[in-house]
Amino acid sequence: MHRFFTTEIQPNTAVVRGDDVKHIARVLRLRAGDAVQLCDGNGRECDAVIRSVSSDAVVFQTEPWRAAETEPCVSITLFQCLPKAGKMETIIQKCVELGACGFVPVQSERCVVVLKPPYEGRIERWQRVSEEAAKQSRRGIIPKVLPPIALDKLDFSGYDTVFAAYENEHTVSLKTALREHCGTRIAIVIGPEGGFSDTEIETLVHKGARTVSLGTRILRTETAGMAMTAQILYEVEP
Ligand code: SAM
Repeated sequence: MHRFFTTEIQPNTAVVRGDDVKHIARVLRLRAGDAVQLCDGNGRECDAVIRSVSSDAVVFQTEPWRAAETEPCVSITLFQCLPKAGKMETIIQKCVELGACGFVPVQSERCVVVLKPPYEGRIERWQRVSEEAAKQSRRGIIPKVLPPIALDKLDFSGYDTVFAAYENEHTVSLKTALREHCGTRIAIVIGPEGGFSDTEIETLVHKGARTVSLGTRILRTETAGMAMTAQILYEVEP
């Protein structure tokens, strides 16, 4: 069944506007009476039937809203040190599909890319990638992409557990660390192509991160976040 995000919600009614109207009317050729699923982008979804289609809006008759069935039982936020051009889009797209709930681009010592303000254009583009991936993978939320932040300014106070992926961690694997973790708000931190410096690892540990190994092979920065998201959800989901 086709699924659309909307925030224009009233009792028994919802409206979709913008690019989705053209998609609904011209591409999918949906008409009054057709059934779809709607999602509020905030973890709730409902069954709905199209009441009317006009050039700028599609109006739906909605059934009761319920918790979205596709959201994972833990919330994973990916703190990704800025990779080379174009890779951030791939990382966001794949991690949204896998179940990540938010993204924080991080500027670190060995990042090849140095982002300078204004960041708005880039954040908007990354946010669009997140939205498209959320639609495609039938997520109940549209994971947010926050503005870039320097590594030494990171604040993990909103998280129950913080894992920093570190290839020189030879004792604690992600699997072991997950057995001991508690809480549902998990932050994961991934270094850039050149990895973290020793000072950055000290900073991350000082801020509450636990360094973990993702195995004996060295993953590319764009692979590490995806692998970690998938491994965490494999371990913790029922
Ligand atoms: N510069 C490092 C080197 O050549 O040994 C590799 C950095 S790796 C390409 C980029 C990032 O992915 C790392 O900073 C780390 O966060 C993560 N990563 C890759 N492989 C990993 C592994 N086996 N265990 C833990 N983290 C890993």
